[in-house]
Amino acid sequence: MASQEENRISRIKDRLLKAVDSWTDPLAIFLNIFLTLFYYLYDVFYVVPQMLGTTGNAVHFVVTTWIVYNILGNLRACSKTKSSVDTLPPELMQPAKGEEHLWHSCEKCQRTVPPRSWHCKVCNICILKRDHHCSFVANCVGHNNHRYFMWFAFYATLGSTIALVENLLFALRNKISVLSLFSFNGLLLAEYLHRGSVNMALEVQVRLVFYVNICAVLFPGLLFFQQIFLIRRNAVMHNSSDRTYDLGCWKNFAQVLGRRHFWTFLSPSIKSPLPNDGTQWQSKHNV
Ligand SMILES: [Zn+2]
Ligand SMILES: [Zn+2]
Repeated sequence: MASQEENRISRIKDRLLKAVDSWTDPLAIFLNIFLTLFYYLYDVFYVVPQMLGTTGNAVHFVVTTWIVYNILGNLRACSKTKSSVDTLPPELMQPAKGEEHLWHSCEKCQRTVPPRSWHCKVCNICILKRDHHCSFVANCVGHNNHRYFMWFAFYATLGSTIALVENLLFALRNKISVLSLFSFNGLLLAEYLHRGSVNMALEVQVRLVFYVNICAVLFPGLLFFQQIFLIRRNAVMHNSSDRTYDLGCWKNFAQVLGRRHFWTFLSPSIKSPLPNDGTQWQSKHNV
């Protein structure tokens, strides 16, 4: 009786999770694209022209356009590239001779899957070398798209940090002190004491842009540094302390970035084949 009740609760939980996931992924990816374009256009056409000359503006335009291209390009590639076990060619769907003991069975997929593959409740399939399901890219991050996720997090952090510096300089230029940005009460008090002395519309605009900008630096920043920490030891998010596959820093990064290694920094369109197929993993013990 108790187990029937537990099953019922578990089914309700699964249904609720699916309902939440069906709108969090599209919402997160929309916010991602919207905020990237908003800060790009806001800084390129509104903030920076008030602070730099023609040459400075042109340099800023080229640099930030390249950053935005890499944010959106890596986001698109990460979101479109699947890492599920279904992407394997038919000859790799079964373990190679002598490697049967390394594969494990998945109850949900009702099949055996390669080592380092784990089931994703949102995608409802096992993912090769699964790191985590990320709503910001509306996809599971795994063997085939890990590179795009790492560079997406890097460029999103870089772009947001540059925007934050520019927005702070813009605030200073308009005589809004950085410290005052952290206190809304101070602004209301100043307006109360010296009515009409504060440009309220500009203050609110600068503050809103600043608060969202802080979040836009922190979220991808934390994700990027977490990824560097994990990739450096060839671990994944759900098993971050596992050093089984740690082959040394250079080789560990090559397993994510592919043969062209850090040159993938330049663009998501650079072809960089991965050194393995996602089913066979060299470990420290079988080097
Ligand atoms: Zn599965
Ligand atoms: Zn997933």
